[in-house]
Amino acid sequence: MIISVASGKGGTGKTLVATSLALSLSDKGRVQLLDCDVEEPDAHIFLKPTFTHSEAVSIPIPRVDEEKCTYCGKCAEVCAYNAIAVMKEKVLIFPELCHGCGACSYLCPEGAISEEEKEIGVVELGHSKGVKFVHGKLSIGEPMALPIIRRVKQHVDSEGIIIIDVSPGTSCPVVEAVRGSNFCLLVTEPTPFGLNDLVLAVEVVRKLDIPCGVVLNRNGVGDKRVEEYCHRENIPILLTIPLDTKIAAFYSRGITLVEGIPQWRGSFLKLFNKIGEVINERSRGIKR
Ligand code: SF4
Ligand code: SF4
Repeated sequence: MIISVASGKGGTGKTLVATSLALSLSDKGRVQLLDCDVEEPDAHIFLKPTFTHSEAVSIPIPRVDEEKCTYCGKCAEVCAYNAIAVMKEKVLIFPELCHGCGACSYLCPEGAISEEEKEIGVVELGHSKGVKFVHGKLSIGEPMALPIIRRVKQHVDSEGIIIIDVSPGTSCPVVEAVRGSNFCLLVTEPTPFGLNDLVLAVEVVRKLDIPCGVVLNRNGVGDKRVEEYCHRENIPILLTIPLDTKIAAFYSRGITLVEGIPQWRGSFLKLFNKIGEVINERSRGIKR
């Protein structure tokens, strides 16, 4: 089972939920936490894994042999990302825009384009407290998160329970990380900003046809509009975490909620059971 943990907005407590859910399930069998927030991975700060393996991630960047090039311009035409410009007697490549799709080298009529690998980040694997851990780290200044997210997801242990910590927002990296999940937990807070971003996140998971539920974090800080929205949209609120300075203090010290306050473990196990119920409902044709 793959459960992704997303939020329309940063700072809502997504990693707090992902890490505590993973730890709570660690004695139930094989549990894996994939941190796909590759621009700013932080689950390792809380789980403090022992890393055992690391692999570089690279993408193929074109290189033009100007001896063979006739400056026909086909490569620039096919590049959907404007990463190639063909001048009168010069081909310019902009590696920071290149997605490494290979279309230009495939379609060059002169065979003038070869490819060279460019490292854009790293994937690290390890374990912590009964949880198998994988995260990706995009190199500073690199804009291509998707190849790293895909590489992290290649390590999915399909026999176990997989928790995916997704980057905040609703852009391509979020779609890539959430795609293929059996369920998406949306972590939000009861404020107008929380509601606004929750609405956008719900649109994304519904387009992907993934059932979802909400974790309402810092409850007590705002108003009832998130709850009213969830009620109207028939989205279950599966867990409520109160605004509590004790929780914030543990979080700021890199301590997971269930380790700081072990009583929360039961709440996260209940959360997991409720997710199972929603997935079962879905299999019986009841949509959320
Ligand atoms: S498609 Fe090939 S031959 Fe044409 S401009 Fe690009 S590199 Fe040169
Ligand atoms: S590999 Fe793809 S993205 Fe990169 S320059 Fe070629 S066509 Fe453009």
